[in-house]
Amino acid sequence: PYKGKKLNIALCGLGNYASLLAEGLQVSEYCQLAGIVTGTPSKAETWKNKYNIQEKNIYNYENFDSIVKNKDIDLVYVVTPNSLHKEFTVRAAKAGKHVIVEKPMAITAEDCEEMIKTCNDNNVQLAMGYRLHYEPNHLEIKRLGQQKVLGQVRYIETGLGYSTYDIHDVNKPVDLNARNEWRLTKKFAGGGALINLGVYCIQVSRYVLGEEPIAVTAQFGTINNKNRFAQVEENITWQMEFPSGAVANCSSSYGFGIDRFHAAADEGFFEMSPAVSYGPFVGKRSDGKLFNFPVINQQQTQMDEICKVILANQKLPNHITGEEGIKDVRIINAIYKAAETGKKVSL
Ligand code: NDP
Repeated sequence: PYKGKKLNIALCGLGNYASLLAEGLQVSEYCQLAGIVTGTPSKAETWKNKYNIQEKNIYNYENFDSIVKNKDIDLVYVVTPNSLHKEFTVRAAKAGKHVIVEKPMAITAEDCEEMIKTCNDNNVQLAMGYRLHYEPNHLEIKRLGQQKVLGQVRYIETGLGYSTYDIHDVNKPVDLNARNEWRLTKKFAGGGALINLGVYCIQVSRYVLGEEPIAVTAQFGTINNKNRFAQVEENITWQMEFPSGAVANCSSSYGFGIDRFHAAADEGFFEMSPAVSYGPFVGKRSDGKLFNFPVINQQQTQMDEICKVILANQKLPNHITGEEGIKDVRIINAIYKAAETGKKVSL
């Protein structure tokens, strides 16, 4: 019934990741870029010309709520700094628009609850921007883990980190109030490497095991750049315990590069590196089998898979909705509590 029909998406917050999403939307089958919401007038002009966006589909943060009257926008994709996800999700839902929200869903579980409730109350669907849920290598490790293809997974090691500054330049002053440094502030980011990058390690551990962690321990790591990391962590390691007895040992960093996943199971192992970035991913199993999956456009695939379901008037599966996002936010905050107190925190 929806053959040839595309959902009209408005991107909200035109930063780096919104540009990648816009590229994905150029090749999408079930959705297209129809509108933008931006606080920067010069971007409105550039995007309008680059993507042929109609004037009536361009909003700023003040007049955004009037999108309720715009029948040509079906869905708002929120790609702002983390702590603003709640505000824009709530406003979009109240305007009757479906929402996709980037990771992390929000910075507190209370914000996530309000987002879920507002979407339910307004009969719109809320999807998480988890790009790896549709990626073939990730579907494979989920299968290997959950179907115990190499036996029960006992231990996972996974990490995601990037170097975000020049190590020879650690004394360079930083303006934490600058708009493009929001990741370095508690107020906008909610935390550092863990909430922004570590969320993928939590995700992959959860879906490979098919279990929810019951307790966490954590350690903040070295701060090599005290100017940049005055409010949020540069490095963190943490451990998650699962009901089966499996343990995941994870790390994330804004100081060094790491991008890997390893699962030790009773009859062997499977691993990937690169594993949780944009790829391309390289994976193998202890029995010699190499992963051999096509490289996909992660953004396009994610948006198409979500929009296909919405176009068919079906309910999105729980593992890609706000019900999934809030789980990760609860785990992240438990990890921060464990790192701050030095004690094991139960979930
Ligand atoms: P950017 O800083 O590049 O862009 C954020 C945009 O949000 C800004 O350009 C701005 O757009 C808008 N914005 C609104 N209010 C503010 C404010 N007070 N301060 C700063 N910016 C503001 O960040 P990213 O695009 O890298 O990240 C955005 C979101 O996407 C984050 O939640 C991040 O976690 C997520 N992300 C997800 C990735 C993934 O792989 N799924 C990868 C990278 C990021 P404008 O000028 O139009 O108002």
